[in-house]
Amino acid sequence: MPKYKRVILKLSGEALAGNRGYGIDPDVVKSIACQIKELVQMGVQLAVVVGGGNIWRGVAGSAKGMDRATADYMGMLATVINTLALQDALEKLEVQTRVQTAIEMKEVAEPYIRRRAIRHLEKGRVVIFGGGTGNPYFSTDTTAALRAAEIEAEVILMAKQVDGVYDSDPLKNPCACRFERLSYIELLNRGLAVMDATATSLCMDNRIPLVVFNLNREGNIKRAVMGENVGTYVGG
Ligand code: UDP
Repeated sequence: MPKYKRVILKLSGEALAGNRGYGIDPDVVKSIACQIKELVQMGVQLAVVVGGGNIWRGVAGSAKGMDRATADYMGMLATVINTLALQDALEKLEVQTRVQTAIEMKEVAEPYIRRRAIRHLEKGRVVIFGGGTGNPYFSTDTTAALRAAEIEAEVILMAKQVDGVYDSDPLKNPCACRFERLSYIELLNRGLAVMDATATSLCMDNRIPLVVFNLNREGNIKRAVMGENVGTYVGG
């Protein structure tokens, strides 16, 4: 039996890029879609928040002298491109989906309507949230926290390229130690870069737990939903 009935899966844009590091790798998207299908078949209500860093990040643009808000709107549009790629892959597998965007673009997707999103989930459709929060200066991690609170998700599954939260960068330090459990206060005090501070405090204030796990290991999304010790659990 799954431990969680309603979850938010946060996929960074990077996750869709595979080894290329940028853009979209359709094979990678397909493999994520297969894993998502399995969860839907188990009766898990799944909403996905997709990032856009594989295409564009606002801070990168503003570092080069662009207006920050404009650069961020570009980032939000980038996330919508990713949502459509994921929607396509899921529908090819006959998983019913709805994309909802925080910035209205009704020819492409539904606008974000909280009650409608919940209804879709209850009907077994995967809801994919695009366009971040719709506001510049925020991130898709904050979007995941916000949407989780709004739709009353029990957990955020934070898919990463590493096995969880470490005390130092495991790619640089071979002795880096992984935490099995952490509190949000510890996360903030230790300055561990799992999510930005806005997202972290939103999760903390609304008591939304987080499971940080490695997306590159096949079957890990399911393990996380089953409540297995798959990475790092952040809560309390
Ligand atoms: N963004 C934004 N407001 C939001 C969410 C995202 O302005 O509510 C912009 C921001 O520029 C960000 C970009 O969209 O850099 C892509 O999102 P993010 O960096 O969170 O994607 P990820 O790192 O998860 O791929």
